[in-house]
Amino acid sequence: SLKGKTAVITGSNSGIGLGVARALAGAGANVVLNSFTDRKEDHALAEEIGRAHGVEARYIKADMSKGDECRALIEQAGACDILVNNAGIQHVAPIDEFPAEKWDAIIAINLSSAFHTIAAALPMMRKAGWGRVINIASAHGLRASPFKSAYISAKHGIVGMTKTVGLETARENITANAICPGYVLTPLVESQIPDTAKEYKMSEDEVVEKVILQKQPSKEFVTVEQLGGLAVFLCSDHASQITGTTISADGGWTAS
Ligand code: NAD
Repeated sequence: SLKGKTAVITGSNSGIGLGVARALAGAGANVVLNSFTDRKEDHALAEEIGRAHGVEARYIKADMSKGDECRALIEQAGACDILVNNAGIQHVAPIDEFPAEKWDAIIAINLSSAFHTIAAALPMMRKAGWGRVINIASAHGLRASPFKSAYISAKHGIVGMTKTVGLETARENITANAICPGYVLTPLVESQIPDTAKEYKMSEDEVVEKVILQKQPSKEFVTVEQLGGLAVFLCSDHASQITGTTISADGGWTAS
């Protein structure tokens, strides 16, 4: 059980982050949810999770595109035994048409935010004598696809950062790993279907079948519950020698 541990999950009012937060709370951890909004429903979500699992659950607003807010999130959490770097955005365009401000935002949110949260959280983990860093990378941290230059650069970058942190903490009862999911049907994926359809000159249904699931030999989407289960496993004692590496949950995508 993760009772008494505190997990901070960035970008967790939706999709995979929310699924991982629910799974960690289900395993007994206190959870800190995050996104850049500060709506009633964000706080209500935390309350609902706290009640459902009998844990402490809070929502803290912080914009992961800003380094100082990333660090402030960890400070405000007050404890961070488990850090899940999950916040991420996507933009689909050929590199010569890729808006520079989208490049900057993707590198900031999908890559640099993890640098700042890890830097702020490691001293807390060292003090506690235990820690888990889980970075939500992607199959796109290991493989490329056209029209996603910023995302793929950021995800390859976070895989490299994960290995480095694994080495720097190897003697300290702290592990750092990257989960590399294939396609999960979340708002992030749903929202890129129209642009992808435009680039490939296909209908949206064809994009799901011929572009998205074409990558995934299982022909099934990965679920947020499966990824939550993987995160809980990485927090268990059985996983304490798993560090500085990637774990794929991609229906066979990276086998070829
Ligand atoms: P999603 O859009 O449902 O969730 C993204 C989360 O990040 C949301 O909670 C959003 O509010 C938050 N976020 C965005 N910008 C933020 C900011 N500036 N500050 C704080 N929070 C911010 O998408 P998802 O599919 O659940 O994606 C979660 C992570 O999983 C991302 O890193 C994504 O790259 C990765 N991933 C997704 C898939 C997939 O197929 N969906 C596959 C592999 C990896």
